[in-house]
Amino acid sequence: MRRKKFWFILLALAVVYGVWLGFHILQFEFYTLPESASLPEESPEIKGVYHLHTKLSDGYKKPGQIARLASKASMDFIILTDHGNPNYGCLESEGWKEGVLVLAGSELSVNRGHLVGLGFDLPLTPLSRKAEEATYHLNSLGGFAIIAHPYSKTSWSWGEFIDYSGMEIINGDTMLRKKFYTWIPYLPALLIKPRLFLLRTLNPPLENLSKWDRLNQIHPLYGYYSSDAHILYGPLLSFVSLHIPLQKPLSSEFREARAQVYKSLKRGAFYNVVEAAAEARGFRFWAQKGEERQRMGSTLFFSSSPVKLKIHAPFPFKQETHLIHNGETVLKSEKNKVVFPAEQPGVYRVEVYLKEPTPMGERIPWILSNPIFLTKD
Ligand SMILES: [Zn+2]
Ligand SMILES: [Zn+2]
Repeated sequence: MRRKKFWFILLALAVVYGVWLGFHILQFEFYTLPESASLPEESPEIKGVYHLHTKLSDGYKKPGQIARLASKASMDFIILTDHGNPNYGCLESEGWKEGVLVLAGSELSVNRGHLVGLGFDLPLTPLSRKAEEATYHLNSLGGFAIIAHPYSKTSWSWGEFIDYSGMEIINGDTMLRKKFYTWIPYLPALLIKPRLFLLRTLNPPLENLSKWDRLNQIHPLYGYYSSDAHILYGPLLSFVSLHIPLQKPLSSEFREARAQVYKSLKRGAFYNVVEAAAEARGFRFWAQKGEERQRMGSTLFFSSSPVKLKIHAPFPFKQETHLIHNGETVLKSEKNKVVFPAEQPGVYRVEVYLKEPTPMGERIPWILSNPIFLTKD
């Protein structure tokens, strides 16, 4: 009799869970842009996924297979970052594959944690395991260094050494490892609505954002949304992405296209998107000083002539744009176009929040821009 009761309760719980999950799956909506939502013509835009592992270290697919999935996900480029100081096999896998620009760097193991090196020429000697030495070496080879998942262990271990080019604000792999209880109930959704599952793995990157704001007071540092995929490439290639507004279309010549992407990343001329929540294309943030127009990532001298910060978030979704100045929100707007006369020097950046029903937590920036720096000296 007792046993029967036990099975009955178990069955009832399974039914309740099934209904609950089914409800969330049916309710889930991925917001797409209408075909007519075209880009400002003078300004093409490409998107790609940064920080991917392949079979050349601890990933599960070959570069060509990942490129095929990236092409399906409508990505223009991917950046492979296999482990190694550097990983020579990974570096050699660059090229056009399946119509996708495949770039490759390495994820270095150094004394302070993991450091991603990109855009560098082949080193003649291995890269140091000391973070500062490895960064100088990468810079001397024409490359740049990004601090990977800075809070994956416990606390900040990178000091205030300022020669890094960027840091990761969201890292897919770290999100999955931390607070697994937030996504475990949604695990079966991975098979039917992978975007729903992935959005549930996101936690507000508050620690990373506040550290980023503080470090930007010392030296420009650019922020990255990073996939860090080792498996599940299909869904993860539509999870988080980097969008680069270009000045001219992406070249079909590999070396030139590679330079176009790396130049933009090195200058912080890109924005980050939680791709799984809604399609984003055409977001722009720039500083206007007279006729002069400066892109994200730029540093401008703040003098007597006024600087206008302009934001275009041309999306047909409910959204809220935040302008952040030295870590403080100075403006919130639901409009598609925002003009802000900057009366103070400092570091300005933009976060756009999606206000449509979404399983993504409220405090996760759907779009995260890179900063514009207004300096006095
Ligand atoms: Zn890592
Ligand atoms: Zn990694």
